[in-house]
Amino acid sequence: MATTITITGAGGQIGYALLFRIAAGDMLGADEPVRLRLLEIPQGLGAAEGAALELQDGAFPLLEHVEVTDDAATGFEGANIALLVGARPRGPGMERADLLAANAGIFGPQGAAIAARAASDIRVTVVGNPANTNALIAASAAEGVPAERFTALTRLDENRARAQLAQTLGASVSDIRRVPIWGNHSATQFPDTSHATVAGAPVGALLVDRVGDVRRWQEDTFIPRVAKRGAEIIEVRGSSSVASAASATIDHVRDWVQGTDDWTSAGVISHGEYGVPEGLISSFPVRSVAGRWSIVEGLEIDDWARARVDASVAELVEEREAVRALGML
Ligand code: NDP
Repeated sequence: MATTITITGAGGQIGYALLFRIAAGDMLGADEPVRLRLLEIPQGLGAAEGAALELQDGAFPLLEHVEVTDDAATGFEGANIALLVGARPRGPGMERADLLAANAGIFGPQGAAIAARAASDIRVTVVGNPANTNALIAASAAEGVPAERFTALTRLDENRARAQLAQTLGASVSDIRRVPIWGNHSATQFPDTSHATVAGAPVGALLVDRVGDVRRWQEDTFIPRVAKRGAEIIEVRGSSSVASAASATIDHVRDWVQGTDDWTSAGVISHGEYGVPEGLISSFPVRSVAGRWSIVEGLEIDDWARARVDASVAELVEEREAVRALGML
């Protein structure tokens, strides 16, 4: 039977970059037929309907069906996978509380609709920002659905980090592993190179050889470059990162469904691992085994790294408190 995939904000830029790759089999494999549900707000319906026409013209052998709707109940009916891309962007003069409230008004009802309509094996990936807290809001509203089924995308941050490290070391990105992202998908995120390997060996001596003072390189070059990459893309390209965000979304879901042979990063529910308060959706080093994410435990974190993890997690706590104060959690 085909897998039903619901994409919210499907008429937007990331949606447009996602749809054709999903239809081509990049996410679930070349043997897995897919049915797509494109969920939009009324203003986005035209763009989503246009994309649906183009999907038809792609004559994708794996694409069984495409449906466009602005009704969440219809959109999530029988969904096995939900990609929550549509979100309210920060407008001029908008405070963080306004942004959180606007998004709580989107992700709360979507979580409820997922609980009411989606298939029992539903897996949710939140891309729309603030992704971690939006995922938390959706999970809280989805009564009866395990919180482990709700995740936030931090794979783009990890892909960026691996690519930067590969460039620094003069290595191939496919040889770089174990560069987890900790915390929030925001400027406070902590891309961690302390466990990184190149072609299976620790990067330690080679990295010292390339950059000298590793701590200084991390603080002055590596972390800001990764955390501010989105702004760099906007400056150079004249518009936000879209294809790389879509590509990372595909990587995340593919690994979730098909499993990983090493660590990757995802925003997942904390059960208190590494001192991250229970119930937050925070990015951790994770593996996917038998269709489930599990947090890689027992890693040593030195004081410097601990402070970085704590700062990003503190921001997640603040976001959760702000949404609670609004009575939306
Ligand atoms: P994009 O498709 O470019 O982005 C969608 C969301 O992804 C934004 O929240 C954006 O956050 C986030 N995002 C996450 N990672 C990245 C990244 N690396 N680079 C850029 N964005 C990233 O936005 P569009 O405006 O083109 O499309 C949004 C669509 O969503 C519209 O068609 C709109 O109608 C729809 N929408 C649907 C809703 C619904 O279904 N209920 C609700 C609200 C909107 P950031 O803002 O921080 O860049």
